[in-house]
Amino acid sequence: MYSENGCKTFCCSRCTYSTPDTGHIQVHLAVHDFKEGTMFSVKHNDFGIKLFCCLKCTYATPHKGDLKVHIMTHINIRPYVCSVCQNLLKSKDISKKHSRLHLE
Ligand SMILES: [Zn+2]
Ligand SMILES: [Zn+2]
Ligand SMILES: [Zn+2]
Repeated sequence: MYSENGCKTFCCSRCTYSTPDTGHIQVHLAVHDFKEGTMFSVKHNDFGIKLFCCLKCTYATPHKGDLKVHIMTHINIRPYVCSVCQNLLKSKDISKKHSRLHLE
């Protein structure tokens, strides 16, 4: 999905985005996976208005751009990335406990 060069920069393989932070590349990659069925569904309300609905909660909006911003809030809940198994972890505490598992 992404490559690491000598200066510890993670580069997106699907666009020119690069960042020194693994957590950021994980969040960025989600932008490319922003597809109907995996991140959101499209419905029409009683007035025939097209609505983009979040699959993770009850949020719905007629504006696709708003939905994208909203979905980022779900992704950003897990900003800690395990450097061993690349698992996304909810908090610093959880990530500390998690990294101990790899030491055993
Ligand atoms: Zn990209
Ligand atoms: Zn949501
Ligand atoms: Zn891990």
